[in-house]
Amino acid sequence: MRNLLTLRSSAPTISIAALVATAAVTAGIATAPAALTATAPAGPKLVAADTETDLATVAADGDTIRYQGLTVRVPAAGEGVQAAAQSTSGDISITVSRATDGSVVVKTEAHGEGESHDEEHGEAQAVNATAIRPAAAKTCKDAAYALSGWKLGSFKWYYNPAGAPASVRSSAVAAIAAGTTGLTKACGQKSLKLVPSYGGSTSAGVQVGAAGNCTGNDGRNVIGWRAGTGKWLGMTCTYFKTIKGKKTVTGTDTALNTQYKFFTATKNCSNAYDLQSVVLHERGHSLGLNHVSQAAHASAVMTPALSACSVGKRTLGLGDYKGLAAMYGTR
Ligand SMILES: [Zn+2]
Repeated sequence: MRNLLTLRSSAPTISIAALVATAAVTAGIATAPAALTATAPAGPKLVAADTETDLATVAADGDTIRYQGLTVRVPAAGEGVQAAAQSTSGDISITVSRATDGSVVVKTEAHGEGESHDEEHGEAQAVNATAIRPAAAKTCKDAAYALSGWKLGSFKWYYNPAGAPASVRSSAVAAIAAGTTGLTKACGQKSLKLVPSYGGSTSAGVQVGAAGNCTGNDGRNVIGWRAGTGKWLGMTCTYFKTIKGKKTVTGTDTALNTQYKFFTATKNCSNAYDLQSVVLHERGHSLGLNHVSQAAHASAVMTPALSACSVGKRTLGLGDYKGLAAMYGTR
């Protein structure tokens, strides 16, 4: 059973720069000893976005911010980036934005699923995938959602097939498309006004590094494969810019980690993860949804947990849909 503690134990050590920044922020004044301040590398001044964010868990080296194995570069003033990684046992994210006054605002989230589940049930022998959905009776009743604060103007996405595992090479694009269009409707409600469109396959790179780092933004929304070195199934880097006071997405890329097994058909699943479900969750991040509590809203797609060999979260819950409808409107 993997758990988030494993991730925490492998978290990067905290740099002196981060400690200095933390001290300065929490105390409101620069309280670090002069000797430390003098030898610390020049890092940006960090400000915690909320009480959930503990800057002591965040490392800053020059223009790079690291958290639980995720790495992002500090963006330009008025811009921001979120790295969100879905693991087999939980989900972590960091959002870094630079205010126009130059301060760097950091928001972190780390969620374990908070309870055991039968993630290993597929390891011993192949089974058929089943529709496990915790608290399934609430899927179309629980209206809870959380928003990240940014929005896409439109969503044209591309698929880079390089590195696709042989087991899903021919079926991946259909599963990814299904996971993406799954965003637009749920629980018998009206369709969203936002209609994602598939731009075709591309050789443009997925701008997510193997180590779980956001490597840049070419403005093209690409999903594809990485032989990731971290414990993540899917990872999304979303860039946004404040335009007329509103955070607008300027690019969002998703990497799928070939270190794990994925499936698209439901027969003979062995410790593999449903590609469509992973994509639906990651797309939720791209469109501006944040996580909701696993314990309180288990039926939602935007909870951190996903069971192996389950297709139970191929459709949005009512709350996931309500969040998107609040942002994009309905037809
Ligand atoms: Zn997530």
